[in-house]
Amino acid sequence: MPKVKDKKKKFSIYTFISIIAFIALIFILLIPRFFNVKEREKQEDCIAKMEKIHNAIENYMSDRSQSFNGDLVELVRTGYLKHAYECPEDGVGDKYIASGNFETGEVEVKCPNEKDFPEHKLK
Ligand SMILES: [Zn+2]
Repeated sequence: MPKVKDKKKKFSIYTFISIIAFIALIFILLIPRFFNVKEREKQEDCIAKMEKIHNAIENYMSDRSQSFNGDLVELVRTGYLKHAYECPEDGVGDKYIASGNFETGEVEVKCPNEKDFPEHKLK
C-alpha cells in the first residue's frame, strides 16, 4: 500500500515540475519577442521620420531651386518640416544626416545610429 502512495506523490511532483518548466519556457520565448517589438517600433518610427525629412527636402529644393545644406532647423524655419526630428534610439547622435543636391536632384537622409542599428535605413 505505501508503495502506491509514493508513486502518486512522485507523479504529482513531476507534474508540478513540468508545469513550472512550461511556464518558464513561455517566459523565455516571450521576453525577447517583447523587446523585439519595442525595437521594431523605434525602427519604424525612425524610418517614418526620415521619409518626412526626405519629402521636406524635395519640396524645399523644388520650391526654391536651390540645394539643401543639411540643417533640419532650416526646414523647420521655412515651414517644410514640423520638427527637427531625432532618432528614437539612444546612440552616438540623434540628429539626422541630411543633404540635398539641387543640380542632381539627389537627396540623402541617414540615421546617425545606422552603425548600431543597420535597419534604420531609408529604402
Ligand atoms: Zn534611427
